[in-house]
Parts: sequence; C-alpha cells; structure tokens
Amino acid sequence: MTATSQDHTKPERHPQYPSLFAPLDLGFTTLRNRVLMGSMHTGLEDRARDFPKLAAYFAERAAGGVGLIVTGGFSPNLVGWLKPFASKLSWPWEVRKHRLVTDAVHAHGAKICLQLLHAGRYAYHPLSVAPSKLKSPINPFTPRALSGRGVDRHIDAYANAARLARDGGYDGVEVMGSEGYLINEFLSARTNRRNDAWGGSVERRMRFATEIVRRVREACGPDFIVIYRLSMLELVPDGSDWGEIVTQAKAIEAAGATIINTGIGWHEARIPTIATSVPRAAFAGVTAKLRPHVALPLVATNRINMPDVAERILADGGADLVSMARPLLADPEWVNKAHTGKAHAINTCIACNQACLDHVFENKAASCLVNPRACAETELNYEATPSPRRIAVVGAGPAGLACATVAAGRGHHVTLFDAADEIGGQFNLAKRIPGKEEFHETLRYFEHRIRETGVAVRLSTRVDAATLQGFDIVVLATGVTPRPVDFAGADHAKVVSYLDVLTGRVIPGKQVAIVGAGGIGFDVAEYLVHHGVSPTLEPARWMSEWGIDRDFESPGGLARAEPELPARRVWLLQRSAGRPGARLGKTTGWIHRAALKAKQVKMLGGVEYLGVTDAGLAIRIDDAEQVLPVDHVVICAGQESQRELLPALLAQAIPVHVIGGADVAVELDAKRAIAQASRLAAAL
Ligand code: FAD
Ligand code: NAP
Ligand code: SF4
Repeated sequence: MTATSQDHTKPERHPQYPSLFAPLDLGFTTLRNRVLMGSMHTGLEDRARDFPKLAAYFAERAAGGVGLIVTGGFSPNLVGWLKPFASKLSWPWEVRKHRLVTDAVHAHGAKICLQLLHAGRYAYHPLSVAPSKLKSPINPFTPRALSGRGVDRHIDAYANAARLARDGGYDGVEVMGSEGYLINEFLSARTNRRNDAWGGSVERRMRFATEIVRRVREACGPDFIVIYRLSMLELVPDGSDWGEIVTQAKAIEAAGATIINTGIGWHEARIPTIATSVPRAAFAGVTAKLRPHVALPLVATNRINMPDVAERILADGGADLVSMARPLLADPEWVNKAHTGKAHAINTCIACNQACLDHVFENKAASCLVNPRACAETELNYEATPSPRRIAVVGAGPAGLACATVAAGRGHHVTLFDAADEIGGQFNLAKRIPGKEEFHETLRYFEHRIRETGVAVRLSTRVDAATLQGFDIVVLATGVTPRPVDFAGADHAKVVSYLDVLTGRVIPGKQVAIVGAGGIGFDVAEYLVHHGVSPTLEPARWMSEWGIDRDFESPGGLARAEPELPARRVWLLQRSAGRPGARLGKTTGWIHRAALKAKQVKMLGGVEYLGVTDAGLAIRIDDAEQVLPVDHVVICAGQESQRELLPALLAQAIPVHVIGGADVAVELDAKRAIAQASRLAAAL
C-alpha cells in the first residue's frame, strides 16, 4: 500500500467527500468506495499477447484506489465482434489470460467485472446480426436478422461467457444494454421490427435483455456482481420514452441484476454526449430521475471528471456510484488524490477524445493526451535518474511543461523559461474557446507539478543563446508562429491573425471571414459566434441548443433544437475542395461541424483568395467570383516552427533537443507535443 492510498480497514466518514468514500455493501461483497472505472476499449483486449500490458494498466488504476473496474467489451460470440478478431470470450481456453488481469487488480484491493458487449448491427464485419435486417447509418454492413433459434443461442452465449468470466476470476460482469448495441437494438422499436416473441410490445422487446440477465445470474450464482448498462436516454428518433425505460429498469431488477449503470446516447446519435463541450455531469439528472423507481444501486455517468462533481451527484442522492472511464486513463491516482485532499493534483481528463476514442476508431492502441503513459505502463516509466543534470527548457507550452516536469520529477535540475508572463503557450488561447474550458485544468495541473517537482520557472524572459550558458542540456520547446498568407491585400487593416482575436487585441466586427478551416479556424469560428457565458457552463442552455428534452420524457429524449442566434455572421473558408472539417478528430469533427452549422456559419471549400479591399474579401469558387462584405479577415492558415535559437546553440556545442511545434509544425497538436516531450524527458 502506498503512502497516499486509502486505509480500507477503517471506513470512516471522509471529511471532504463523505459520499464518494462511503463503502457500498452489495450483500455478498463490499466495494471500498463509490468510484466505478467505466468500460473503455483500449485495443489491448484484442490480442492475448497484450494482456500483460492490460494487466499493468488496470493494476495502476486499482493501486490508485478505484473501487470497481469494468473492462472493455468482450463479445460472447464471434458474430458479436466489434471488428474482425476483436475481443471475445466464448471458449474455455480464452480464460487463462484473464487471470493476469484479475489477479493484478485484486492484489490492490479493487474489484473487477468483465463487460459483455455484443456489437449487433454496429459490428464492423459481414457476419453481423441484429433483431431486424436494418443497416445502421454509421456502418456499411447490413446485419442478418436473427432467427428465433438464433436468439436462444445468443442468450446461451451470454450465460456461457459470464460463467467463463467467473472462472477467470472476475467479481462479476457488466451486460452492455445501451449505446445502440445488440441488446439495445432489441429494446428499441427503432431497430426491432420483429413480430415474434422478441418484438412488438415493450414487454416482448425487453425479453431478450431480461432473459440474458436471468440466465447470467442462474449461471454464476448469487455472489456474483451483475451490472446492467441500461439505455436511459437514447438521443435518437423513435428511441424509448421514459415510461419504457422505467419498465425496463424494473424488469432488469426483477431478473436479478446487482447494479444498474447508465447508458447515454446511441453511437449514431447526433448529439454529443462525452465531448469536451458537453457540460460536466450533464446527464446525471437522467439517473436521478430513475432513482425512485428501483431499489438497486444506480451509477451516474458521462463527463464526471473531478471529485466535487462526483460528490455532489452522490450527496444529492441521484446515484449510488459514479462511473469514470477517461478520467482514470488521464490519472490512475485520481481516487487516492481525492482521498488525500489533493484534488488540485489531479491530471484532469479534458474530454478531447484525441488519444483515447479517436485512436480506437483508427485501430490504434488508446492512450491519453494529458498522460502518454496510459496503456504504455510497461514501457514508459519516469524512473529516478542516477546522474542529475542542469537542464534548460525554453518554452512553457504543453511540450515544455511536460518535459520540464517529467525531467524534474526524475531528479534533474530544471529551469523553465518563457517569454510570456504565464505558463501554457497556446493552451492559453485554447482555454478561451467556448466549450474548451477544461483546458484550464491542464494548466492548473502543470502549475501543481512545477511546484511539486521543484522546476525553477523564469517567466517574461525571452531567451537567447547567452542565457543558456552553463546548462548541461537545452530543450527547445519554443512552439510555433502563425503562417503568413500571400494573397493581394494581406496587409490590409481588415486582416488580422487568430492571435489578435483570441488575445482580445482585436474585437472583430459583425461580419467576419476566416481563412483556413483547420482545428484553429473552427475554434475561432466558435469563439466569434458565441456571446455571453459559454453554454458548456450552463447545462440548460446547452440542452436547448442541442435539442434534448430537459424532462427526459419524450421518445429518445429529443426536443426541438433551439440554437441561440449567432453573435456574428461568419464565413469559414479553405482552399482544398470538399467539406471543411474533414480532417478534424474522428469522434469530434462532426460535433464542430454541427455546432457551426447551427450558428449559420457558411463553410466553403475550394476557395481561391483573390484579395482583400475596403469592400471585403474577394474569392472565387468554381469560376464564380464574389466579394464577402466582411469587416475582418482572420488568418488561421496553419503555423511554422519557431526555432531561431537553434543555430546559435548548435554553434556553442550545447546538447540541444527540439520538441513540440518547434520540432515539426505540420499537424502539430498537444497530444504529439506532450507525448514527444514526456518520452524525451524519460530518456534524459
Ligand atoms: P506552444 O504552445 O506554442 O508553446 C511555445 C512557448 O514557447 C510559448 O509559450 C512561447 O511564449 C515560448 N517561447 C517561444 N520562443 C521563446 C523564447 N525565445 N524564449 C522564451 N520563450 C519562448 N491542440 C490539441 O491537441 N487539441 C486542441 O483541442 C487544441 N486546440 C487549440 C485551440 C487553439 C485556439 C489553439 C491556438 C491551439 C490549439 N491546439 C490544440 C494546439 C496546441 O495548443 C499546440 O499544439 C500546442 O500548444 C503546441 O505546444 P508547444 O509546447 O510545442 O508550443
Ligand atoms: P491546420 O489544421 O494545418 O489548418 C490550416 C488551415 O489553413 C487549413 O485549412 C489549410 O487548408 C489552410 N492553409 C494552409 N496554408 C495556407 C495558406 N498559405 N493560405 C491560406 N490558407 C492556408 O492548422 P491549424 O488550424 O492552425 O491547427 C494547428 C494544429 O492545432 C492542428 O494540427 C490541430 O491538430 C491542432 N488543433 C486541434 C484542435 C482540436 O480540436 N483537436 C483544435 C485546434 C487546433 P487549405 O490549404 O485547404 O486552405
Ligand atoms: Fe481524456 Fe483526452 Fe485523455 Fe481521452 S485523450 S482520456 S479525452 S484527456
């Protein structure tokens, strides 16, 4: 047990988070606190050879104090694979490798359940099955409709997989009944058009789910945790209404579940449910609405990332546990830090999806933008250095901050310079974008780490080669400068840079053209169309904007979207043909595009810039010329590396490393900057 871990022998009332740290007695077993690590596919589940890495990943979270872990999804049979050769548990010889995981977790006092997930019509392969032959809008494969015997065989498969999970040492299973996967497809009239014993009325549609829970309980006995993930807010047309959801919850309770977890939104829903622009705990009210209807412990989910948020949900009585998946990827010590009154030391998940979900969708192993060690616990370790050096890190953007704090944490003597009067580099611009408020948390975390590791910080110091005399090693993390444009009128008074706008040096007029539709162009557009407080900080406004029924009563929980009028008229332009935003993150790009569309932003591709005059920005698209009558043209045309210090340093023969934007500006993002910096610092 580490110095910071919880003393589980004395379940005394925690002074700050009494609800979060109250043990939960399930009758046959007790969870040490109310934190459930939610299921998340990492890519390590798919191959037996990755199980040692998976075990190390979960062991760190268990040592970090979490009460109950749920693994990524394992299919109970081959046709339920998420993709070919994805994780599955259906044969006895597949059990042994799981012992590595369960033993590792139990050694640290946590409990672990295996998630049973049959992909249904979301399966990305031609063998997919579903209640009815209806293709999902987000998958090219059309599923085969299960026969009545096929349904029976599937229920058997769930019971068999649960039994194998118990043999593998798991404390229970989570039956995935939400997000639009197979069980959810049976539950919903949207995807279940059967007229046999498994379709039609809500009672017949939910029979598949209740039979699975009943048979899993029967197969595994009374002292086995059975979590059921219930689709409580579907956010798709023709989804279940509230009456149906309550009926389903009661039936699941009667069938023998131990805990009901909350599922929000199908994957094909066009409303964001976990992105950074979603307000914290935006959907906790759904779980609270179900609370009076069942006696089982309920789990609240989605965008719960800090202990005060979790405590409030539990203390208000809206749920009995809180689920966090990505926040524990970001910081395995989250629970211990909360327990020891160090919430300020938490490396907070900023809900960017860039290294976790986006990676999974790109068939890469998951990691975390703010914690590159996530899922790399066996190979990226920040061990104490045997030979401390004097290291200068120039630039306190994400790259410099990560490098300086990891190196100092290992015992090096680090001085961190920045020309600005605050740390953060471009994150100080990112945090000003409505919907990116979480970026403040990363800067708060680094401020803490600077203090904790003893980095000496020199702000308001523009460094030259002379300043760096006497250091053993120099790390250049000087970032980027905006790329200039060369069309006619680029020096006109109307033309400004994103730096001018986001720092407040220029307040653009009512009509604005943005040149460049990359991540920064989209963010600047978001900044320009909003007025007042960010909707992310006002959940009721956010729900109205996206069309969510605030009473959660209607079918699918949908209401008419009522976006507020934009603060400005904005054109977002790019030279390449096609839809602007096509290169944005896989799981978040559609959100940015939909948000700007709702604000009537004109997004145009295939644009030729003819020039800026007093009349505005002249452009040509497909041989048709027009003048956009804008007050300002904001240039967001990418960046170039800033490393003019390098030649002088090389001439002085000081060992120099170049990282982040200073190294490569093209396709730079904070994920690459932090990962490169951390790996360098681990090797210095
Ligand atoms: P920078 O952040 O540019 O930091 C460089 C630092 O070096 C600066 O603080 C500068 O003052 C300092 N410096 C330069 N020269 C000197 C000198 N001679 N002496 C002393 N100090 C010096 N990335 C994402 O991954 N996800 C996002 O959602 C995202 N959103 C963004 C939104 C906006 C509006 C912007 C502008 C950027 C966004 N980014 C995002 C990009 C991300 O911020 C950058 O990729 C990242 O900041 C690059 O880190 P860096 O440390 O290499 O450089
Ligand atoms: P970017 O993504 O490279 O986009 C630059 C844009 O400018 C492109 O639309 C490009 O498209 C255009 N452009 C390039 N050269 C031009 C020129 N000479 N004249 C006119 N237009 C030109 O860069 P960015 O938007 O500055 O973003 C920087 C990095 O920050 C990105 O790599 C991104 O990963 C990261 N970021 C991420 C997020 C996020 O939400 N994940 C948000 C913000 C930033 P055309 O050539 O087609 O015109
Ligand atoms: Fe959270 Fe982003 Fe890390 Fe994913 S990559 S866990 S969303 S901070």
